[in-house]
Amino acid sequence: MTNMNVRFCTILSLSIVVPALAFAQQTPQSLADAELPSLLAIYKDVHSHPELSGHEERTAALIAKELGAAGCEVAEHLGKYADPKFKGYGVIGVMKNGDGSTVLVRTDMDALPVEEETGLPYASKVTSKNDEGKDVHVMHACGHDAHIAVFIGTARALAKLKDQWHGTILFVAQPAEELGTGARALLKDGLYDRFGKPDFALGFHDKADMQIGHIGVTEGYTYANVDSVDVTVRGVGGHGAYPHKTKDPIVLAAEMINSWQTIASREDNPLDPIVVTVGSIHGGTKHNIIPDEVKMQLTVRTYKTDVRDRVLAAIDRIAKGCAVAAGIPPERAPIVTVRKDEFTPATYNNPELTKRLVAVWKEQLGAEKVEATDPTMGGEDFSEYSLPDHSIPAVDFHIGAVDPAKIAEYKQAGKELPSLHSSKFAPVPEPTIRTGIVAMTAAVLELMKK
Ligand SMILES: [Zn+2]
Ligand SMILES: [Zn+2]
Repeated sequence: MTNMNVRFCTILSLSIVVPALAFAQQTPQSLADAELPSLLAIYKDVHSHPELSGHEERTAALIAKELGAAGCEVAEHLGKYADPKFKGYGVIGVMKNGDGSTVLVRTDMDALPVEEETGLPYASKVTSKNDEGKDVHVMHACGHDAHIAVFIGTARALAKLKDQWHGTILFVAQPAEELGTGARALLKDGLYDRFGKPDFALGFHDKADMQIGHIGVTEGYTYANVDSVDVTVRGVGGHGAYPHKTKDPIVLAAEMINSWQTIASREDNPLDPIVVTVGSIHGGTKHNIIPDEVKMQLTVRTYKTDVRDRVLAAIDRIAKGCAVAAGIPPERAPIVTVRKDEFTPATYNNPELTKRLVAVWKEQLGAEKVEATDPTMGGEDFSEYSLPDHSIPAVDFHIGAVDPAKIAEYKQAGKELPSLHSSKFAPVPEPTIRTGIVAMTAAVLELMKK
């Protein structure tokens, strides 16, 4: 080979490489990498300034600013709550790119009354008054701060990938997820009337026992219907030494609690998961007084609507039946109240949409990094965006947030990892945010591709 030829080859290869670099196609991965340093700064800022549900003023302003900078038309202060003490801090960013379908992308943004014990340099030291006027510590113990970083990163990435999609993206920053009221407040404030009903809705949550770099998704039901039920057991009080002159509501409450457990074991189809938990019971003041009443608070979890209806009816029937058996007069029958305004519907991942997105994620992240996760009886008001009949196909997926070495260490020690809502929970931010952006961006591109 002569010198001439070498020079010719160099020039030729340069002339191919330079334009290729200049026009290298941007990908969800390359865009996520480019945005990570600034998103990490946002994450740490939000992490150290957590706000309680329904009070997300600073967080909402930050998100509104970032969505505007990413090229969205932004609407702020959305949300109509049943309880007027909450202000609407919902933020909607509309990213338009010609005709096409509408896809909703949702983040939550509220924090929890938890005192942070992660020891991180950017740990929260914030205290705030809760809605009962009590001073509480506040912490992003559910990772909604990481969700915000993923959400902003996704908006930035999709703004730069406009040559690859068409349609409208509704970026929804939802307040008060932890109360289960934020999504409903946005819909009540005309989210779909004002910004259009989406063709698809996408949500995500970090997962406290899944390794970083992985995502997980469940086909079908993934979170449960959540009902809160109040029960007041009424008896006839008196002296603890003379039970024969009373109708003891404490013994009666105990009967009810045990009988309610037979709903799962004897009344329900074993293939339909249900949970009836009595989380609170209060009655009486002193050793030797039989009180007049006992108050209980229940959480009831189901998936299917007909199962939900049957379980709630059974709770009522059993409470009243136990009272009759105990000889409680009809005018002192127990009062069973289902708190309709606190209901969170089950989250149902549309199977067809889930399969479609799983295929995309396997391609983008690697097949081994997309896990089929088990459904849980937890609750998530992302379900509201799908509407009660699930007529808007929706998928809510998990993002791994834990170092695999830590998972192995805890497993070996036979210990449970810090769960969501734990004072010790914190995602490993960079890979969690990166994976979230890649997964969400790829999902939106799939649904809106040119
Ligand atoms: Zn939570
Ligand atoms: Zn959460």
